[in-house]
Amino acid sequence: MSIIGHCNCEAVSVELKAGEQKFSSMICYCNNCARAGAGYSINYMVDQADVTIKDPKGALQTYVDTRTTSGKPMDRRFCGKCGSPVLSQTTDGKTTGKVFLKATLFDEQAAPFLELCTASRSSWQPAIAGTIQK
Ligand SMILES: [Zn+2]
Ligand SMILES: [Zn+2]
Repeated sequence: MSIIGHCNCEAVSVELKAGEQKFSSMICYCNNCARAGAGYSINYMVDQADVTIKDPKGALQTYVDTRTTSGKPMDRRFCGKCGSPVLSQTTDGKTTGKVFLKATLFDEQAAPFLELCTASRSSWQPAIAGTIQK
């Protein structure tokens, strides 16, 4: 069983092993995620092996984000046709095989249990989950 998501134009679709979203959902408030898509991003931090990306038209682009909160470069992959963020991967993630898959590719998102980069959270946004990083 898997759940299937896609970018706005559907050039890129993703398949995630079902169940992986429930305990991997985290919200990131960093300015870079906000600029890449919305006011914040909801991500499933999952094993790359549990994600299948279908990109038959070669629409997926990579922006190497070097101005990250952690200071470590992060690949931000997005659909070059419609601009939807698809996933991010840190240099650490390339070693551990973890990716931050954008939860908003799916029609429904699992509730985040962790918040990242809360220093960039707007003052009007309430805390909604545990915090592991300021
Ligand atoms: Zn697209
Ligand atoms: Zn972020």
